[in-house]
Amino acid sequence: MKVLIDMLVIIIAFCMMEIIAWLAHRYVMHGFLWQLHKDHHQGASHRFERNDTFFIIFALPSIVLLYFGLRADFNWMFFAGTGIFLYGMAYFIVHDIIIHQRFKIFTRSDNSYIKAIRWAHKMHHKHLEKHNGESFGMLFVNRKYWRKIKPEKTMNNGKI
Ligand SMILES: [Zn+2]
Ligand SMILES: [Zn+2]
Repeated sequence: MKVLIDMLVIIIAFCMMEIIAWLAHRYVMHGFLWQLHKDHHQGASHRFERNDTFFIIFALPSIVLLYFGLRADFNWMFFAGTGIFLYGMAYFIVHDIIIHQRFKIFTRSDNSYIKAIRWAHKMHHKHLEKHNGESFGMLFVNRKYWRKIKPEKTMNNGKI
């Protein structure tokens, strides 16, 4: 039974992180910490960005929870920390590897989910300034972006 609850805590923490990441991106990164996020929108190189500081900022709650959860004999905190850690990994894979291709290990895909997340984030980067952004989430893709990739899909199926 404990295993099931532990897994549930991981899943809940993971899903909550998408909401927290959205809020942080919308109100903190495009808010009072814009100076750290700015080069991700305006710099072109993607080598090392000030924006990478957010990896450390977002890793901290995970490390704290893992540490105290471990000391408390693997209580819920450990699994909440695991969920946050896994979200961080997923975010890194999707945002930095799949979308921005900072490491050239994943470049092409016909998968419609990948096309949709790429499109949604491209729309986020269309805005170079702090205000009037859109698509602040990462793994969850709004239906309007799914619709954008559909015509392309029918075209491929129709072998055009
Ligand atoms: Zn942004
Ligand atoms: Zn980006």
